[in-house]
Amino acid sequence: MGLLSQGSPLSWEETKRHADHVRRHGILQFLNIYHAVKDRHKDVLKWGDEVEYMLVSFNHENKKVQLVLSGEQVLETLQEQGERTNPNHPTLWRPEYGSYMIEGTPGQPYGGTMSEFNTVEDNMRKRRKEASSLLGENQALCTITSFPRLGCPGFTLPEYKPNPVEGGASKSLFFPDEAINKHPRFSTLTRNIRHRRGEKVAINVPIFKDKNTPSPFIESFPKDEETAKASKPDHIYMDAMGFGMGNCCLQVTFQACSISEARYLYDQLATICPIVMALSAASPFYRGYVSDIDCRWGVISASVDDRTREERGLEPLKNSKYRISKSRYDSIDSYLSKCGEKYNDIDLTIDKEIYDQLLKEGIDHLLAQHVAHLFIRDPLTLFEEKIHLDDANESDHFENIQSTNWQTMRFKPPPPNSDIGWRVEFRPMEVQLTDFENSAYVVFVVLLTRVILSYKLDFLIPLSKVDENMKVAQKRDAVLKELFYFRKDICKGGNAVVDGCGKAQSSTEPEAEEYALMSIDTIINGKEGVFPGLIPILNSYLENMEVDVDTRCSILNYLKLIKKRASGELMTVARWMREFIGSHPDYKQDSVITDEMNYSLILKCNQIANELCECPELLGSTLRKAKYSGSKTDPSI
Ligand code: GLU
Ligand code: MG
Repeated sequence: MGLLSQGSPLSWEETKRHADHVRRHGILQFLNIYHAVKDRHKDVLKWGDEVEYMLVSFNHENKKVQLVLSGEQVLETLQEQGERTNPNHPTLWRPEYGSYMIEGTPGQPYGGTMSEFNTVEDNMRKRRKEASSLLGENQALCTITSFPRLGCPGFTLPEYKPNPVEGGASKSLFFPDEAINKHPRFSTLTRNIRHRRGEKVAINVPIFKDKNTPSPFIESFPKDEETAKASKPDHIYMDAMGFGMGNCCLQVTFQACSISEARYLYDQLATICPIVMALSAASPFYRGYVSDIDCRWGVISASVDDRTREERGLEPLKNSKYRISKSRYDSIDSYLSKCGEKYNDIDLTIDKEIYDQLLKEGIDHLLAQHVAHLFIRDPLTLFEEKIHLDDANESDHFENIQSTNWQTMRFKPPPPNSDIGWRVEFRPMEVQLTDFENSAYVVFVVLLTRVILSYKLDFLIPLSKVDENMKVAQKRDAVLKELFYFRKDICKGGNAVVDGCGKAQSSTEPEAEEYALMSIDTIINGKEGVFPGLIPILNSYLENMEVDVDTRCSILNYLKLIKKRASGELMTVARWMREFIGSHPDYKQDSVITDEMNYSLILKCNQIANELCECPELLGSTLRKAKYSGSKTDPSI
């Protein structure tokens, strides 16, 4: 989730007093970095994935599965046995929001050669094995995006009661603070978001109305005044940051060869975010109920929405400075490349003073407004020991604001005094059950960056249309049922698009009809006379590349998975989970997921992930490289 500063966290009131200080020095730190490395060129293409995991424990006797709150200890051991002993260790482990979560990445970034695509899955398997080996009996490491009974009574091991009183971090009716990672950063974030907002966060996810679901659906938990106001009928109500940031995802970070290439990739990939998110949909269940959405995005967005009532436009501006239209966790608000400028059609709230200062320092309009937009936010955590910094050699204040702007894409300047280049992070994907699927999504996105750069593709459409796509992408079965705005002509015929704009781009107004509504099948697989399709483009790129047979075979299997998920031949994880619950003998068609149903589901997920059973409707029967051993039984399950 970001950098960890150690030390003593300040309260919200104290943090707020230092907000201008953090912003002022954050900008100075950014300027120092920018001036030092703006002309840096020829960094090589490097990339890496991040997978977030949950630790679960099966109680086979009671048919119950719980989240194990041992992430901190597991992480400590992983780091001790890994990176701290051997700088070339193949895996790296980081903390995540939940005390039941950890995050794993490859030990070293991948490079630009094709054969590295063939090592991604092995590395993910290594991670799964390494972390799994530290778990107790009947415990497992799962890559599930959202735990179906997160926030239900007794969902953690050990069990804790929520503590909805003043003084707690979340004050949640459902989510105990003990389920938050014990590093002070995480509870401080939780508390300060709530304090800044002036009330608890409120997440309302539409319930899936099944045959026997009460209508209207109104829950009967104890309702204080705040809950009564915040919870909506026909929705699953959640009231804590953990309901969002306690979910897992799959991210990819790329190093570009220059700042302009990074800006170009940032823009191009931003348009792909909703498409790939819908394709990766894996989170249909919340707080023990079947919801009507398939993706976590809006849930996390609401779970960290620290805007005051004034900033949200519910009250006239009096104490707050701006109206702010989105949460800190949301889609991007402006393109960064010159070609993107004319498609910047979203109202952008910026800190005008910071913008002017950046311009004066020689930063161009697009980058200046990007940074000045990120910096409308307050720092959410500040550690006493980290207030006064050396702006020439540190970047914590810049990172403080930057890393709590959790957007679909992140534009990452190099850290001070490092040999890391300009990077962009692709953040919308939901994590999949298996290393095979996760590798497939990662490789698909990385290959896409290769063809974008090699063929100078252009996916840009007005950013407001990308936002509409983001909304649609989260709906139930969006991948098959919804249409998405997509650019019709994506080939610019070799015009330089990285540093400038091609001829076709010379007009300042977007021409009418540059984009159309398309199905994901059309976007991914193409449709005669309408759109060439991303997979056919990737395939033709691959045909022109020197790739060894084994790597080619892996890549083709990965692309087949994406292709078949897009066409509906295979299910998304979300659809598969819906079918599983829907056909569970205990399911009463009332949208309720009981402990026992949850147990069967997560047990099945774990078997699939560990290749103890096949799941052709999700993965296809011939796609995976690894052989199943149908008779093998795992002693732990
Ligand atoms: N777990 C968050 C998500 O699902 C992301 C946290 C992070 O930025 O690492 O999007
Ligand atoms: Mg993370």
